[in-house]
Amino acid sequence: MFSQFALHERLLKAVAELNFVEPTPVQTAAIPLALEGRDLRVTAQTGSGKTAAFVLPMLNRLIGPAKVRVDIRALILLPTRELAQQTLKEVERFSQFTFIKAGLITGGEDFKVQAAMLRKVPDILIGTPGRLLEQLNAGNLDLKHVELLILDEADRMLDMGFAEDVERLANECANRQQTMLFSATTGGSGLREMIAKVLKEPQHLQVNSVSELAEGTRQQIITADHNVHKEQILHWLLANETYQKAIIFTNTRAMADRIYGRLVALEYKTFVLHGEKDQKDRKLAIDRLKQGGVKILVATDVAARGLDVDGLDMVINFDMPRSGDDYVHRIGRTGRAGAEGLAISLITHGDWNLMSSIERYLKQKFERRTIKEVKGTYTGPKKVKASGKAVGVKKKKTDAKGDKKAADKKKAAKGPTKRKTVNRPKAESLVSQDGMAPLKKRVTRPPVSE
Ligand code: AMP
Repeated sequence: MFSQFALHERLLKAVAELNFVEPTPVQTAAIPLALEGRDLRVTAQTGSGKTAAFVLPMLNRLIGPAKVRVDIRALILLPTRELAQQTLKEVERFSQFTFIKAGLITGGEDFKVQAAMLRKVPDILIGTPGRLLEQLNAGNLDLKHVELLILDEADRMLDMGFAEDVERLANECANRQQTMLFSATTGGSGLREMIAKVLKEPQHLQVNSVSELAEGTRQQIITADHNVHKEQILHWLLANETYQKAIIFTNTRAMADRIYGRLVALEYKTFVLHGEKDQKDRKLAIDRLKQGGVKILVATDVAARGLDVDGLDMVINFDMPRSGDDYVHRIGRTGRAGAEGLAISLITHGDWNLMSSIERYLKQKFERRTIKEVKGTYTGPKKVKASGKAVGVKKKKTDAKGDKKAADKKKAAKGPTKRKTVNRPKAESLVSQDGMAPLKKRVTRPPVSE
């Protein structure tokens, strides 16, 4: 029950209005400590209810009678424009019975309109680091009276090259009394550095371990012989599974476009999102998906970041993600706040070891599924090690369809070969989603544990 927390009655009224009955684990753990004014470092995934875990204590601090606003009192930094918009909505929903006002500053919006909004001084400012810094540099932003600083999805901000911008903005909030940092992963050295710089003796709450993440989501693998076979399985799934909305993940833009093309040819209402798509495409795709006009989205990891669409109940990993954390993020798109979801990964022999590393990382075993109508010949390695990895799998030369014999024949016919540089499609790189700050560096994630 939310009444267990020492929250102002106007906030409890909003919570009841929103039909939030039971707090989620992250809310139970974080709200009391946040209300005490502690610095917190919280590891919690999107979908865990983390937003309310910081928004409610923040509003509780700011709540009071109506008066002329003179200072920005709370600042929320987050990596993407969409996440900023979602967070603003959440703040507005919880503050509906108060006089608290929030403002949004993200890239892609009119600079002058934002400056005018800043002149009215919101109590809470929510924004992405790039544009906030621009407003700061233009002299439109005063953060000296910020009491509370929140860094949401801090690991993603680091990935996107925002480390310096975040630090600079945190330093501007020199008089703050409390800082809370949320990240989906425990992060690497970059995150540790940031924590050391911005938090004071923080309490670390590691609320939902990755293995708890997908409780509401069934996780399956289907083995496939090659990419063309994966496409056949994909078509079968889209035609036969029961789902409201589906998202198909690929590792490259090229593959996302290819699958999109195939689905359009089959007359599916589909959108594709990857780093080459601009904000307009992105907004259109997400609006259509939310309204239900489009049921299927093909996306790369970067493009799907911060996506929060109700009714996304099927995730298909056409390509296996390269790390356990990315897997968790993808699957986090479905089965949100206790809803049921289905996550299916398509696995060729080349994907097997990565898949088994991810199983070990999650301490979960995915359900093996076969579909009679599209069954191939590959069903997994003949022998597996204790780790779940294939025994003695050597890299085989395959042609485009994965047919080794055909590839060998071609090779024999050609005679001795020279070493060739293979032009593989590049993995989707991380770009700023608010289209403002250029990417400075990519922080490498630790590899999936072996
Ligand atoms: P978040 O992890 O903050 O993005 O939250 C995921 C979704 O769960 C959002 O749509 C929230 O509105 C919803 N949510 C958060 N906490 C609760 C709760 N205690 N009860 C019901 N829904 C919740």
